[in-house]
Amino acid sequence: MATTIPIHFVSSKVYPRLTGGRFNNWRIGFVLLTQLLYFGLPWLNWNGHQAVRFDFASMRGYLFGLTLLPQDLVYLAGSLIIAALGLFLWTMLAGRLWCGFSCPQTVYSQIMLWLERWVEGPPNARRKLDAAPWGVEKVLKKSSTQSLMLLFSLWTGLTLVGYFTPMRQLAANLLAGHIGPWEAMFALGYAGFTWLLAGHLREQVCKHMCPYARFQGAMFDDHTLLVAYDSTRGEPRGARRKDAANAAAQGDCVDCGLCVQVCPTGIDIRAGLQYECIGCGLCVDACDEVMDKLAAPRGLIRLTTQHAMQQGSRPRLWQRPRALVYAALIATVTIAMLVSLALRQPFRVDILRDRAVMARETPDGNIENAYTVRIFNTLPQARQYRLAVSGEGVVATAPAEPLLVPADGERSFIVTVAADPNVLERGSHAVQFTLQDAANPQQRVSEEARLLMP
Ligand code: SF4
Ligand code: SF4
Repeated sequence: MATTIPIHFVSSKVYPRLTGGRFNNWRIGFVLLTQLLYFGLPWLNWNGHQAVRFDFASMRGYLFGLTLLPQDLVYLAGSLIIAALGLFLWTMLAGRLWCGFSCPQTVYSQIMLWLERWVEGPPNARRKLDAAPWGVEKVLKKSSTQSLMLLFSLWTGLTLVGYFTPMRQLAANLLAGHIGPWEAMFALGYAGFTWLLAGHLREQVCKHMCPYARFQGAMFDDHTLLVAYDSTRGEPRGARRKDAANAAAQGDCVDCGLCVQVCPTGIDIRAGLQYECIGCGLCVDACDEVMDKLAAPRGLIRLTTQHAMQQGSRPRLWQRPRALVYAALIATVTIAMLVSLALRQPFRVDILRDRAVMARETPDGNIENAYTVRIFNTLPQARQYRLAVSGEGVVATAPAEPLLVPADGERSFIVTVAADPNVLERGSHAVQFTLQDAANPQQRVSEEARLLMP
């Protein structure tokens, strides 16, 4: 039987209808949670500084109690590996639930839709307004919607900048009317993207621009969760017949079209699995409501797997070895990172041999090399460090006194190392620099450098 799709769903703009239900509640919950985190985190302070901030100027990252230095890029690599594996695992298990519930594009589109609905009314009113010629009412409503969207977009842009520059300072500067050119550029750039992608392009991004939508098909299999229409139960569809004989031959779908009307991408899930489906489950809510009114069992459209649908069984997500392998890899990398973080020393040292000054002979006949020792202190207190240099033939190191580094800062020192030419041959020799916290000698880091014997 031919599917009846209202004419507005084949136009380019989608006017999704509001629905209530479990999935809608989850969506609202995820919008609130993700936005609370995104907008709230830059305002949170931890140990005297912003809880989450990546400061490119000082090459430091703050993550609650952790201070990350350029040498800690390995943790960024580890986090990216965990994120990639997590995405593979999640997509394999739950299909596009990420898209429907927590993808920024979906979340921002939902917020823009709320703003639009608030100013311009329900779908029919919005459709009428769009079709109407420009007049005072249309100008007022459209400019109000766009102003609200722009304000929200600007707020997202400023918040993004607040992850890289102190948020409270940024807000104070903004109120005082002076914001730096780089900050303004990034805030406006991100705001522009939010406004364009979520305010205007919306589902077109999911349908035509998102690369994730394209490659995730490769991760799907028969046991992946997806939103599906049970055609065995639903077909042949059509309005309920009064006569018992025809009613018995009819499927449960009454062809009301509600599942299409609530869909944010404007598709008809009854046409089968489609890459445009973002797995938001709103059609499930709409159809469940219809089934309740008809006193029929819920789940004509439901979250299930192809295998479970064919077998009439419950979905079994973890039965695939691939899922267990992904989970084991994620657990391994996570544990390795946590152990490494737990053992990490709160300071780092870089040793650079002074290339401008060649090895020179000292008055007592030894050969001296000069090094720049750069110490990074990640603690919120100033620390003193002791430096010891060991290696074959090494006889002296200067300076001998503790090296003072300010709180949460770094300092470079020129250190000379003298070696006995009677012990070492000509050439390059390994020496070990060991740095100890003067107050906590068990905290130490070592770096190797080369000593030149001319
Ligand atoms: S909401 Fe349910 S009953 Fe209505 S058209 Fe969709 S599948 Fe059929
Ligand atoms: S078909 Fe259903 S689950 Fe898929 S995007 Fe539309 S409303 Fe969401």
